[in-house]
Amino acid sequence: MQLCCSVFMFYIFEIFFVLTCILNSSCGRRFDYYPGYYGEQENKAKLALEKLEHAPQWVKNWPDASVKMGQVSGVALDNSGNVLVFHRGHNVWDANTFSDKDIYLNLAEPPISQPTILVFNETGDLIDMWGENLFHMPHGITVDSESNVWVTDVAMHQVFKFNPQDRENPVLVLGEKFVPRDDETHFCKPSAVAVMSNGDFFVADGYCNTRIIKYAADGSKLLQFGRRAGESPFVFQVPHALTLAEDRGLVCCADRERGRAACFRADNGTYVTAFRSWLIGPRLFSVAYAPIHGGRLYVVNGPSGSREIPVRGYVIDFNSGRLIQTFAPDGGLSNPHDVVVSPDGSRVYVAELNPYKVYKFVDDQLKNERKEVKNVTIPAKPTATIEASSVGAEGARWAWRGAAAGAAGAALLAAAALALLRARNNGKGREAQPLM
Ligand code: ZN
Repeated sequence: MQLCCSVFMFYIFEIFFVLTCILNSSCGRRFDYYPGYYGEQENKAKLALEKLEHAPQWVKNWPDASVKMGQVSGVALDNSGNVLVFHRGHNVWDANTFSDKDIYLNLAEPPISQPTILVFNETGDLIDMWGENLFHMPHGITVDSESNVWVTDVAMHQVFKFNPQDRENPVLVLGEKFVPRDDETHFCKPSAVAVMSNGDFFVADGYCNTRIIKYAADGSKLLQFGRRAGESPFVFQVPHALTLAEDRGLVCCADRERGRAACFRADNGTYVTAFRSWLIGPRLFSVAYAPIHGGRLYVVNGPSGSREIPVRGYVIDFNSGRLIQTFAPDGGLSNPHDVVVSPDGSRVYVAELNPYKVYKFVDDQLKNERKEVKNVTIPAKPTATIEASSVGAEGARWAWRGAAAGAAGAALLAAAALALLRARNNGKGREAQPLM
């Protein structure tokens, strides 16, 4: 009798649940245990966005709309101010792309026959294209100070360097083609490269390994850091993009599934600081640094399954840790995957996986500042020098005790931030998404 009653109650509950879902039209997400909660969250995000300066501004009709591209995984700036777009042509990373051992499943397929690297000038004209018959699943791209182009391919588990004279034969290849491993000579879906002005470079490795590796210019390994598990600022969950803040002696990583931009000393890998925000949410896809106004980080977040977190670009003031600006095209972003900023901060570009797009944003105020600097007869000095020793020593002492210490550590940087930048440890327990 008791069992019968329980079953009856169960069915009553099920019917109630299904009816509630239908009324809410979206099961799971909108089942409202706390009436009004999501509305409040949305309003909170809306109010927070209103408080931010909406800059840089989206430049419509850039680039040339007649140029077709596939999933856009990476974007970079060369030393002439041209924009390199790295895209996947007809290839798409989906649930059938890799085995559960991270082996690329389309080994019989030839590399992408289309040019995977498109070069646009400032006005959006296609001025060059290359990278055909070389790659299988493009991911990260960067250009160093000597105009070498560095890319990663997650299917090939390799990193490539091309010099300006030869765009068909790389001058440096790291990793073994199609062989994912976690050792001294292999990568597993490496995501990004960052190259210092002295030629030393960092590789973020990547989707299945959880480390950042530093190499000398000749490709010999100097150091690595990163852990798979535990409570530590060195634990990564998809180190997805890298940027250098050389004026601060730092390398910063978009630790994607932990929703943070984490910065480490470039000389020895000491943890220094991390930036996260409830408004950015639990996923942070890419980060780029500009040494302007004391240093700014440009970040893009990604879909988190929560409509309360808008998908946008944000600008963080490095010194205060505050969000100061936000940017997006009209209609917002869907799946931004990479961001790059010019050194003077006047131009920002965002690559989007789906839809297959790349966006340009311009900060007119910073552009005018650049003009004013150019008109000064005395040459402008560099804005800063290396100051890693002071921040590094401080950062090294920080303890990391999960959410509480994470919030406390970030709060040192966000001390004066309004409710806008409340640090949280949101990434815990979230699995890496396969479609990126
Ligand atoms: Zn990715």
